[in-house]
Amino acid sequence: MQHPFLPVQTHSFTSPGQIPARGHSAPRPRISRRLLLLLAALSGMLVVNVAVSYYHIARLVEADSGVTKSLRMRQALSSLDAGVAKAASAERGYAITGAVAFLEWHGRAVEDVGQAMAAARLLAAGDWAQQQRLGEIELAVGRAVGWLSEVIETRRTSGEQAALAKIAAGTGVVLLDSVRAAVERTREEEDALLRARTADARTNLHVTIAGLGVFTVASILLVVLLARAMRRDVTNREIAHESLFAAHEMLRSVLDTIPQRVFWKDRESRYLGCNDLFARDAGAGSPAEVVGKTDAELAMREHAAKYRRDDEAVMSSGQAKLGYEEPVSRADGSTGWLETSKVPLRDIEGGIIGVLGTYQDITARKAAEAQLERHACFDALTGLANRYLLADRIRQEIAHARRRAAVFAVAMVGLDGFKLVNDGYGHAIGDGVLAAAAQRLQGLLRSDDTVARYGGDEFALVLSCRGDERFATAIERILEAFEAPLTVQDRDIFITCSVGVSTFPQDGSDAATLLSHAGAAMYRAKERGRDRFEVFHAEMGARIRERICMERGLRRALEEGQLFLDYQPQLDLGTNEINGVEALARWKHPESGLISPARFIPVAEQSGLIVPLGTWILRHACMQARAWNARGLKPVVVAVNLSALQFRQAGFTELVADVLDESGLEPSQLELEITESLLMSEAEEALRVLTTLKDMGICLSIDDFGTGYSSLSYLRRLPVDKLKIDQSFVRDIPANANAVAIARSITSLAQSLDLRVIAEGVETAEQLEFLRTLRCDEIQGYYCSRPVPPAEIPPLLARGTALLFG
Ligand code: C2E
Ligand code: CA
Ligand code: CA
Repeated sequence: MQHPFLPVQTHSFTSPGQIPARGHSAPRPRISRRLLLLLAALSGMLVVNVAVSYYHIARLVEADSGVTKSLRMRQALSSLDAGVAKAASAERGYAITGAVAFLEWHGRAVEDVGQAMAAARLLAAGDWAQQQRLGEIELAVGRAVGWLSEVIETRRTSGEQAALAKIAAGTGVVLLDSVRAAVERTREEEDALLRARTADARTNLHVTIAGLGVFTVASILLVVLLARAMRRDVTNREIAHESLFAAHEMLRSVLDTIPQRVFWKDRESRYLGCNDLFARDAGAGSPAEVVGKTDAELAMREHAAKYRRDDEAVMSSGQAKLGYEEPVSRADGSTGWLETSKVPLRDIEGGIIGVLGTYQDITARKAAEAQLERHACFDALTGLANRYLLADRIRQEIAHARRRAAVFAVAMVGLDGFKLVNDGYGHAIGDGVLAAAAQRLQGLLRSDDTVARYGGDEFALVLSCRGDERFATAIERILEAFEAPLTVQDRDIFITCSVGVSTFPQDGSDAATLLSHAGAAMYRAKERGRDRFEVFHAEMGARIRERICMERGLRRALEEGQLFLDYQPQLDLGTNEINGVEALARWKHPESGLISPARFIPVAEQSGLIVPLGTWILRHACMQARAWNARGLKPVVVAVNLSALQFRQAGFTELVADVLDESGLEPSQLELEITESLLMSEAEEALRVLTTLKDMGICLSIDDFGTGYSSLSYLRRLPVDKLKIDQSFVRDIPANANAVAIARSITSLAQSLDLRVIAEGVETAEQLEFLRTLRCDEIQGYYCSRPVPPAEIPPLLARGTALLFG
């Protein structure tokens, strides 16, 4: 049966042999007008079709660039957020430890924030509303960064206590929250925008496809009408044929111009026609070759059954199936993606006679979408997971470890001195180093481990569930991996790394805590000399907290008079009389009771509190000695312990002079106990201070002697009067040969240098007797007396020799 659509079938017109021969003439004007009308309609259709296509394609492109912009903005906001958080944790680290590494860290974080802000501002150019929101963020960031700098300044000028008090006041939390909230707001708006843009892009695509479909069908119908009109009316065969031929050519060019594959099939899914693009896909030389075939006989044979089912569904339901995505396998074995639409093809009476389909290759778009998704989860420079994906992986790992009651570790790896490389060689090499480092780290790990770029020159590794020693080897391997240079642009760059490790569940039960503790451990590794690793322990956190607490208490102790001094007699073995006392600091805490100086002096030293504390002790001890003198007791030397920090403070010798002046104590009655380690650092400066003190007439002794590494030649140059044999040796004599040898060599050394020698920690008569045989000059220890309150010293002085023999 003659099909109403047959006239438009490709083969009907492509062969000139089928063109009907010219016939007799007829009233031309009437036919011309009708043909002209139809042709005009057809041309209009073509123009509209092309215009609509291009309009939507333009919008597609626009929406696409909007999507890219949104993603970039999100990235800028994330960096901003991360930068501020990093600056805050550096500030806290600095406030607690005072370590300069944190200042560097802080500086870098603030730089990052500046860069992220600049990037965001650039992206917001031309968008007034977005600029407004960025203004808000900038204000909040400015306030927060200003506040962080204030804390740092406070730490620098007024010490840790003041800085911690400032932190504790809570302003920082509010300011940081306001940054976070402002960023979050903008991010949410950006997300909404992103969703809208993506939806817009999709809609446009569908509209384009549907529009093309409709236009194509309409064009085909027009040509059919044209053909029928001509067949009914044409008397002039030649004109009719030429017109028909022209109309057909027009349709052909419509079909071959649109950037879509178009085909139409009969009820049996046999091709009735198609455009050039489709023919090429079908592996045919021309549309004519496709006609009459089924999918099973063409290049898409692999999908023939599925296509047939789809065709059937459209034809039997009479419903169009628009814009669905389907995979397609290519001749080269790769997989592509199509976005297909199928509509039922109807005859004039509305009966379904086949199916019209169009599709376009969306492989590139799918790849771009995947790329966008990667952008959201992966770092562009190194291709590693970014911090968002990292947090997600850690959460997965936590869930996994919980189920199996297992442990895993988070390692933070920071490149040492990366800033130098970046500044010295330029950013291109710097980027190359990061990429190479990333690659090296990735090469080390097992498949279930994760490496991520945490930011700047820091990488984070999630080391999946395994035992302790396996963690240790994994970390060692990381350090070893950086022993060989990284080759970037034919240049060998040597860079080491510092690694900080936290473990789940010991060091934290959520991603943020684990990361921050690993970061803290990493900074500790950097502080301790880089190219090494440190493990964060819960006790470390506890220790930090205890220290903060103790420092606060210590400051109050000084103000509220909880500190006092005990004095321990020193006995001259030549005269068997007490010739000196050592002042020892005591702290009676209102709740915790007596706290040992072995605990609070190190805290005071680390926090710098030792300076005011030491001044108080010095003044107090001098006043006490002067008070004993005033009571007519035999003058004794009071020995005061000195910390390195006190010794190094500017104007220390003047301070000592002032204290002596104030108290009216003779300089010869003051002895300062210094340690070897204090002398080791800045030896020349130490020598200058000691000489000044010596010239003032003050006695100087070296405490804990034998535990340090003073060289003999150095010792010879020191203007000291006395060596104090450390109690660790005294404790073990005379039983331990090693201790005996040390005690012996110290006494003979002292004698050869014409120094006095005192043994501390003497607890037994045996120790005393032995020290006597070494010709030790003085002893101090429980055997003689424990450290006692000042009121108990006068009776002891009076007893003198009786201390030992009474
Ligand atoms: P140090 O300077 O070596 O002080 C001697 C320590 O040994 C004192 O402990 C003393 O009580 C203890 N001792 C004395 N005789 C014996 C003995 O026969 N057996 C034993 N087992 N121990 C004995 P203390 O008072 O707990 O002080 C510990 C450390 O704290 C001092 O060691 C010193 O380094 C530091 N320290 C104490 N007071 C001050 C101070 O005023 N300023 C500074 N900078 N440090 C101080
Ligand atoms: Ca001492
Ligand atoms: Ca000592």
